[in-house]
Amino acid sequence: MKPKIVTRIAPSPTGLFHIATARVALFNYLFARQNDGKFIFRIDDTDTERSTPTFTKDLIDSMNWLGLDYDEIYYQSQRTAIYKAKLEELLASDQIYWSQETEIKEGEKAEVLRFRNSGTKIIFEDIVHGSIEFDTAELGDFVVAKDLDTPLYHFASVVDDFLLGVTHVIRGEDHISNTPRQILMLEALGGSRPTYAHLPIILAPDKTKLSKRHHGQIAAVSEYRRLGYLSEAVVNFVAMLGWSPQSLKDDPNQEILSLADLLKKFDLSKTQKSGAILNIEKLDWLNREYLKKLTPTEFKKLAQEFLPTEFTTKSWYQEKIMDKLWPLIAERINRLGEITDLIKNGELDFFFVAPKPSAELLKTTEYLGEVEARLATLSADDFSAEKIKDVIWDFATEQGRGRVLWPLRVALSGLEKSPDPFTIAAILGQTETLTRLTYARTI
Ligand code: GLU
Repeated sequence: MKPKIVTRIAPSPTGLFHIATARVALFNYLFARQNDGKFIFRIDDTDTERSTPTFTKDLIDSMNWLGLDYDEIYYQSQRTAIYKAKLEELLASDQIYWSQETEIKEGEKAEVLRFRNSGTKIIFEDIVHGSIEFDTAELGDFVVAKDLDTPLYHFASVVDDFLLGVTHVIRGEDHISNTPRQILMLEALGGSRPTYAHLPIILAPDKTKLSKRHHGQIAAVSEYRRLGYLSEAVVNFVAMLGWSPQSLKDDPNQEILSLADLLKKFDLSKTQKSGAILNIEKLDWLNREYLKKLTPTEFKKLAQEFLPTEFTTKSWYQEKIMDKLWPLIAERINRLGEITDLIKNGELDFFFVAPKPSAELLKTTEYLGEVEARLATLSADDFSAEKIKDVIWDFATEQGRGRVLWPLRVALSGLEKSPDPFTIAAILGQTETLTRLTYARTI
């Protein structure tokens, strides 16, 4: 019987959960689930100086938000005794040794544990890159631990991969150069080699290496969440960072893949080698597609989170009116964070408070009386955008649409740019619409 497939995601809580980590997590998750295997979440928090509880929480929150459920979670900081036992074992078999360091700075230990490296050539198979060859002689007798209680990252990582039975190490390409020394340690521990898959580097839209400093806004998953991207869209988006469905040429919509679709279509062995570019426009497009799939109730539930409290605590704010605006908003945005922008720019205020447009902006009030009279003929219960358009359209066409519709829209919104007047009038309702028109005629 083949051993059960075990994959893992092993981020360090020394920074926010990165978009590249999301991709590594997703590929590990998909591969494990496709093979009826196990997906482990390991927090590599041995670096006590740089690891923080806030970052650990961000890692866990981000994984949950992405919906990548894992089977087990481990914290390396709780496993020191395990690493110590393994260090002692390797000391006893003389595969590592205490080395007296000559060049030490004040306060540093004079001894470290080093690996007895025979310097063999190592060839390993990588699912993405094929066969990779390394001469390990150049590594020398590398350090594995500062002391028995302080293993270095590589050692702890290898011990865990070994003890947790990891069969596939799927991670970023930046770890290729770490692999040979990890294989040496693994073999010293008596472990068998996992299969490796090193995923291509992720490049920023300007094709430079993605860095937190220059691309802070698009580096952390929490930032995508804050900007109002849906987790489904982010998952779909990161799946395409190095992989794409084969049939893409016939239909770009094939790129819209839910987690369930990805479980069916994803193929780790088809991962590309060349760098994957983070195309935020593509994410915007995807996000919009996912927003379109939401029911009005689902949309409202998610969108509400993006209403600033300064807005909802305004004396004139009414939830009843806001509820009428959701469908309009849903049509206009790519990501939910744009709701906050619309509000901050004051683009929704006029639905709640009657504007006082200037005569210049209105241009002419000549036709407003006739428009008002026509709108008054409709019934208040049936004051829909369609009906409103029906009673005005022919008149507007006769008199010149700009001269009729522009002042109507400005009378209702007070803005140079806003949705069409029929939509606005329907949302405002008949009474409010007529009141605003009566007022505008006095300007
Ligand atoms: N803690 C390492 C990192 O965050 C894990 C690398 C690995 O997957 O082996 O880069």
